[in-house]
Amino acid sequence: MTTDKIDLMTKIVSLAKRRGFVFQSSEIYGGLKSSYDYGPLGVELKRNIANQWWRSMVYERDNIVGLDASIIMHPKVWQTSGHLANFSDPLVDCLNCKERFRADKAPKRTPGEKIEYRKGGQKKGELIQGTVPEKGYLCPQCGSCELSTERQFRLMFQTNLGPVDPISEFLEKNYNQGLSKEDFSKKLSEAIEKSAVYLRPETAQAMFVQFQNIAQTTSMKIPFGIAQIGKSFRNEIIVEHFIFRSCEFEQMEMEFFYEPGTEDQWLDYWTNERLSWYRRFANNKDNFRLRPHDKDELAHYSSACYDIEYLYPWGFDELEGIASRTDYDLKKHSEASGVKLSYFDQQKTDPTTGKPGYRFVPYVIEPAAGLTRSLLCFLLDAYEEEKGVDAKGESKERVVLKLHPLLAPYKAAILPLVKKDGQPELGQAIAQEFRKKGMNVHFDDNQSIGKRYAKHDEIGTPYCLTIDQQSLVDQTITIRDRDTTVQERVSIDQAVEIVQRRLSL
Ligand code: ATP
Repeated sequence: MTTDKIDLMTKIVSLAKRRGFVFQSSEIYGGLKSSYDYGPLGVELKRNIANQWWRSMVYERDNIVGLDASIIMHPKVWQTSGHLANFSDPLVDCLNCKERFRADKAPKRTPGEKIEYRKGGQKKGELIQGTVPEKGYLCPQCGSCELSTERQFRLMFQTNLGPVDPISEFLEKNYNQGLSKEDFSKKLSEAIEKSAVYLRPETAQAMFVQFQNIAQTTSMKIPFGIAQIGKSFRNEIIVEHFIFRSCEFEQMEMEFFYEPGTEDQWLDYWTNERLSWYRRFANNKDNFRLRPHDKDELAHYSSACYDIEYLYPWGFDELEGIASRTDYDLKKHSEASGVKLSYFDQQKTDPTTGKPGYRFVPYVIEPAAGLTRSLLCFLLDAYEEEKGVDAKGESKERVVLKLHPLLAPYKAAILPLVKKDGQPELGQAIAQEFRKKGMNVHFDDNQSIGKRYAKHDEIGTPYCLTIDQQSLVDQTITIRDRDTTVQERVSIDQAVEIVQRRLSL
């Protein structure tokens, strides 16, 4: 990463805290690693992104409906989906510098290649010669080949449901009863497993498990989709890059059910839809791209998969996965639950029997996006530093968050020039008119007008409406455009309508 790119990330983290977008969780106690709180502006930005996703997925279509499922589901869901057995990451310890890392995320090297690294990962440590091992990676921190074997680390958070603490109950019965260490440990695990439940690591499974209820209650015809936005939890080995990878995060996922045999058409459709959704709200559209998965990256049931990647300061990395999941999930849940999760099309002829009526298990395309990760992308995409001159002709720099107006936390700032002469009262009355129309605006009469413009540029407010002496005489105000800084005078009567019109671009 180049210095200015590292800088950009530092600037975003600092702006996010300074202006109230994102705070470290439990900061006054030293902060909880990997957990973040979304402050007054962050919660608005996150909601606006979620609302735009919901609008484009659900409201603008008549064949996609929503779901808001519980975070703790029946453990059999995770057993059947394969998460209990397989949802893990390969964890490796570096024996030289003690770094712990994910083998699948370590940079790839050619096995057998000669390398050098420093003892203990210290700058002045002894220089050691080594060889890239067969697995084809080194410690990402110190470059050493002294690595532990890979072990699987389960990513799901586990807890226990019910009023009884399974550990205390177990200890009461088994403490000092002569069990060997191995038996004690095995029986304790079994006792805990009995009431174990998991925090969902993805929102997707609920859409498969509720497939039948939703199909029946809505009578939707295939193709149709189920969309959901919500929290997911993963006990990540490495949490990194601010909110890019955290243990508690939010996802926006949609399962799209369709007739087998049309997978290429639908995968093509959804990858284009989703890429253009991001680009619609972005300034630097080329920073969003599609990357097809290599064959060896595909899950065994997946016929194809694309990632939408964003050019983060550390390079292109995942923002959303769009997977063709065949009929794997519905079939698995059907087998495990005994409930037939299939679809009957009366109008179609069964291709195998040639008889009217066709029952099949739908295939699925799943666009799975990160809401909190999208928020990071839109902040990075919007951040700009511009050089200009002030009213006195002196050069000055301004930070401006060029967020798409639909995503911006405040749609307008209402700024009386002075705190007297009826200007604040007029400002409050104008703010009320905006609020009546459901727009989030900010009435702000603190500090100099220059500082207030600078603040609203930095938090991405698209329009600043300034009330001055003339406003009380002729009922006009100025509207300042965040991106051009151009100001124009308009009548107060028209202010709401003008901003509303510009926001609907
Ligand atoms: P990665 O390869 O980055 O670990 P993944 O392939 O495991 O991600 P998916 O299971 O496809 O991710 O989840 C869909 C989306 O959810 C991701 O594209 C990402 O935007 C988001 N996401 C997944 N894990 C996290 C996390 N730990 N923190 C924040 N967002 C996440």
